[in-house]
Amino acid sequence: MSKDELFVAMDRSQEWYSDIFAYHYEEAHQRVEELLNETEEDENGCMVTPTSGPRKVRFQGHQDRAYRFIYCILHQLAATRDQVIRHRCHNRRCVNPRHLDIGDRGDNFRDELERRGNGVDFNLL
Ligand SMILES: [Zn+2]
Repeated sequence: MSKDELFVAMDRSQEWYSDIFAYHYEEAHQRVEELLNETEEDENGCMVTPTSGPRKVRFQGHQDRAYRFIYCILHQLAATRDQVIRHRCHNRRCVNPRHLDIGDRGDNFRDELERRGNGVDFNLL
């Protein structure tokens, strides 16, 4: 596959993460540490960012949600736009890598229904 074909095959999210893993990985990893350091741990083990909504992170000219950035960097995953990072704890301000999981939009929707129906069983985390 030529470089041009590769470019067409990837969406912008995937392209950005692939570029990070190739050229900016150390710096990205450092940013993850910084983001984790500014959180406060609550009674459920959630690492909560000091923001009113999900924290955002800007890196190498692109912006993403901090929890997505953290998951992708730690798992070296170049996520496509259709891959969502789920909060198993249902706390969208949480960036605890152990509470995050990958899924598609359908999974995210089912998570939300489950949260409304039953709440969260933190023993499962
Ligand atoms: Zn959490």
